[in-house]
Amino acid sequence: MKTIKVNDLIPSREECGCNLIHDNTLREVIIGREVLKELPQILEELNLKKPFGVFYDKTTLKIAGEKILEMVNGVGFEVSEPTFKEAERKTSTAKGVQTVIATGGGTVIDIGKYVAYKYQIPFISIPTALSHDGIVSPVVSLFYENGRRSIIARPPILSLIDIDIVSNAPRTLSSSGFGDILAKVVSIKDWQLGRDEVGEEYCYTAERYTLKAIELVIDVLKIGRSRDYEILAEALIYSGVSMMVAGSSRPASGSEHLFSHYLEIHSSIRAPHGIQCALGTLPTSLYHELHNRNWWKNLEYNWKKLKEYMEKAGIPLSLKRLEIPVELAVKALIHSPEIRPERYTILHKRRPTREEAIWLLKETELL
Ligand SMILES: [Zn+2]
Ligand SMILES: [Zn+2]
Repeated sequence: MKTIKVNDLIPSREECGCNLIHDNTLREVIIGREVLKELPQILEELNLKKPFGVFYDKTTLKIAGEKILEMVNGVGFEVSEPTFKEAERKTSTAKGVQTVIATGGGTVIDIGKYVAYKYQIPFISIPTALSHDGIVSPVVSLFYENGRRSIIARPPILSLIDIDIVSNAPRTLSSSGFGDILAKVVSIKDWQLGRDEVGEEYCYTAERYTLKAIELVIDVLKIGRSRDYEILAEALIYSGVSMMVAGSSRPASGSEHLFSHYLEIHSSIRAPHGIQCALGTLPTSLYHELHNRNWWKNLEYNWKKLKEYMEKAGIPLSLKRLEIPVELAVKALIHSPEIRPERYTILHKRRPTREEAIWLLKETELL
């Protein structure tokens, strides 16, 4: 069992010297086998109040929800869809709850986070899969009528990552988690472009945690340990910490995430989040290599190496295999900056032409 005291890792804004948020709501993350059974004791230690609202969906009720409900004598809330509408519905039915505990993948965690934020009460995340870095981030990402939107809420106060649970999730979900971290090789460089070219606030503490996350996953993937769930969990936590520090998803989401958002808005076929972002990472990192003089000098971070790591993580790197239409991917490279005009990236700096977009996809062998 490993406990990461996240509180102690986050310096104050003054100590850091930046003007960003440095949110230190998250006290600790506990990673290990069978850590779920420690929950009642930890709730007591943290002095968290009843009634506990326990959020799950149909699948995660069986995996962990039932156990949690019984252990904490909680009130159950079943989440049915990944929308802000559902988050609002759950908020109104959860009135009176004093602590929110959410167990699941992205949707359940985000809806629990939203409800806790609305009532300004503590939130605990208990992921059932390691598919993305929203496990402990302050970001809530859900759908509304015209696509996905992210808002900033508050991070959890505690996260329990039970390795016996997350290692039983389908492999494509942990592949997604690895992909979400490898994508940061691009997002950090996009943020630096924002810093250097449009004067955006930058934070070296956030950068440090993102880099730590990248290094952790590259180190295990290099030696083929794509089932090292402890390390993947730690990497996702550090990426979450960088977002808490920045007070936004800026360190963790650049042009490669915009690529993924574009696919989501314009198509109903969806691969897991981190797999779509990994796909976006290859053409955008090649594009950076060509047009950004500040791109990594470290050869470990060039697109060919990233591709090797992604393959080792079990990410299918082909538009065809993921049933993504070629035209959609081409348009995503050209038009995704329009989704967030204010978030400066390499695609904002220099919009690719149609020919360039096709070439990027061919060169990286996605096409
Ligand atoms: Zn992500
Ligand atoms: Zn800072």
